[in-house]
Amino acid sequence: MAEVQMADAETFAFQAEINQLLSLIINTFYSNKEIFLRELISNSSDALDKIRFESLTDKSKLDAQPELFIRIVPDKVNKTLSIIDSGVGMTKADLVNNLGTIARSGTKEFMEALQAGADVSMIGQFGVGFYSAYLVAEKVIVTTKHNDDEQYIWESQAGGSFTVTRDADGEQLGRGTKITLFLKEDQLEYLEERRIKDLVKKHSEFISYPIYLWTEKTTEKEISDDEDDEPKKEEGDIEEVDEEKEKEKGKKKKIKEVTHEWELINKQKPIWLRKPEEITKDEYASFYKSLTNDWEDHLAVKHFSVEGQLEFKAILYVPKRAPFDLFDTRKKMNNIKLYVRRVFIMDNCEELIPEWLGFVKGVVDSDDLPLNISRETLQQNKILKVIRKNLVKKCIEMFNEISENKDDYNKFYEAFSKNLKLGIHEDSQNRAKLADLLRYHSTKSGDELTSLKDYVTRMKEGQKDIYYITGESKKAVENSPFLEKLKKRGYEVLFMVDAIDEYAVGQLKEYDGKKLVSATKEGLKLEEETEEEKQKREEKKKSFENLCKTIKDILGDKVEKVVVSDRIVDSPCCLVTGEYGWTANMERIMKAQALRDSSMGSYMSSKKTMEINPDNAIMEELRKRAEADKNDKSVKDLVMLLFETALLTSGFSLEDPNMFGGRIHRMLKLGLSIDEEEGGDDAEMPALEEEGAEESKMEEVD
Ligand code: ADP
Ligand code: MG
Repeated sequence: MAEVQMADAETFAFQAEINQLLSLIINTFYSNKEIFLRELISNSSDALDKIRFESLTDKSKLDAQPELFIRIVPDKVNKTLSIIDSGVGMTKADLVNNLGTIARSGTKEFMEALQAGADVSMIGQFGVGFYSAYLVAEKVIVTTKHNDDEQYIWESQAGGSFTVTRDADGEQLGRGTKITLFLKEDQLEYLEERRIKDLVKKHSEFISYPIYLWTEKTTEKEISDDEDDEPKKEEGDIEEVDEEKEKEKGKKKKIKEVTHEWELINKQKPIWLRKPEEITKDEYASFYKSLTNDWEDHLAVKHFSVEGQLEFKAILYVPKRAPFDLFDTRKKMNNIKLYVRRVFIMDNCEELIPEWLGFVKGVVDSDDLPLNISRETLQQNKILKVIRKNLVKKCIEMFNEISENKDDYNKFYEAFSKNLKLGIHEDSQNRAKLADLLRYHSTKSGDELTSLKDYVTRMKEGQKDIYYITGESKKAVENSPFLEKLKKRGYEVLFMVDAIDEYAVGQLKEYDGKKLVSATKEGLKLEEETEEEKQKREEKKKSFENLCKTIKDILGDKVEKVVVSDRIVDSPCCLVTGEYGWTANMERIMKAQALRDSSMGSYMSSKKTMEINPDNAIMEELRKRAEADKNDKSVKDLVMLLFETALLTSGFSLEDPNMFGGRIHRMLKLGLSIDEEEGGDDAEMPALEEEGAEESKMEEVD
């Protein structure tokens, strides 16, 4: 056959990354080669799903081959293993595109994962499962027939290229795909019936189409001597046995007869129709794996049915890890398979589950949806809306169940906390319930994470609000000047260091009737101590009013206003943002995004208020100097330095780091008593407002 094909074969080069992937698969030693069969069967099952779905609206699509099946044929003589399906098949263009010339987004990621020590069995998750055929085969031939095209043959021994040939003369499939693997010499175990059956049981048990294995049966048959001369002898399959026994039985003779038949090797009863009590953990796990191509067990499962006005059954799973492309917006969600009365309808129904639950996998089987439902009608479908609501509810229940086990919940939270926060942002109805699932580090949580609920139990007497600080990392916020007073009062502060926290907390606003208050925004009001203390502070505030004015004059537009602070204890000053404006952290996040979208301008940046600490020695000294001489140059210099330092400690970035560096160097020189004139090598350094004269004064401040 091969020679015939060569005549009009078209040759294509594998796309570069696919080519690399093939070399990696062929040249690296992987022990877990058996997964190739799971991948090919899963592709067959997908192809069958597609044609079945098409046939719901157009029955004639099945005409060329009405039966839906997967068949496996081991051929010991030719050392080939074939997987045949009556699925949708591929047109010539499909063959060229899907099997070699267009790289999947996961190709590169998978190779990186492999090189980082990942197991080859992960291949299916990255959307390149087909190529696992080359784990066991030196050559692969794909024969395929799509309703819209002729039958074609794809053939490749890897090595950079493949051919595609029109197949007019070969055995015609009617519709579907036959994948023939020419097994490597050391992979002939995959021709053994036992091995194939075990593999199907292990990896493909829940495929919902019948999988038939072409089996060889040897039966012993007794025949009498007279029959012995009958024409049966012509069948090469019959062989004579055991002379001894033959004699014992006198004239009777035993022969072995070899027959072939299709043996059904999977059960296909949908697991979701069975009673949860009767399903073992292993069964759930293997169904999960067959559903998702995951190589690991699931973290949690929820199997339930909804009855009453509307009936459906569902199994939902939470994986152990986030997939590599969790927030890849190019990727369509296809994690929940929708069935209608056991018939697979689609696996990318966006109306079924909200985006923030995009990591939940599973199946839903509805009794009420019409079989021939179209994508357009799905959008307004009321039944679907009810199903969706129930799925969200059950997911939240499942997450709460996970939270009963600390280790599991840590795993879950690490992988999917961003999704929960996205949920808080988007789902106003379930916001409160989702808030219970949040966990944060805090000024009191140590290495552990704390829930809002636990935070509330630790609230000090008289504490009305829940305090939090947002920032880039735990390290960046835990010693922030904003926390000083709160810490001193013994108030716990939550560290919200995920970019999405800014958005989530902005929507959440309160928990358990307690307001969530940012430590870095204006309007942080802590309850007063005694009347006497309050008065003292008011007086102090007054005495600093002039300095506030002076500072505002010096900084100009850089700050909205300058006020005396209630929140800092040790630091000289900090920069807070408006109660309803962006925090420093939000400004950082938006700047990072603006890099990608350069249309965003600086007009969006936060309005800053400088808060000064009247108890700080630097401020006290500044106050004295400003009072003595409003135009004291050293005051200007110091204010600029304080402002820039506060930008950094408050989580902002510097507009001109060189200027700042220059000022710091200048301070260093003062500290080291190096004369500016003799320094020589840094003439380009930005100078302080006035050279020389202020040095002695600056030293005093230090
Ligand atoms: P995935 O299954 O994740 O899409 P694969 O590498 O396993 O990735 O398969 C690549 C593509 O090749 C499939 O998406 C499908 O279009 C096509 N394909 C593979 N096997 C078959 C088959 N048996 N029938 C029809 N199309 C197939
Ligand atoms: Mg696949």
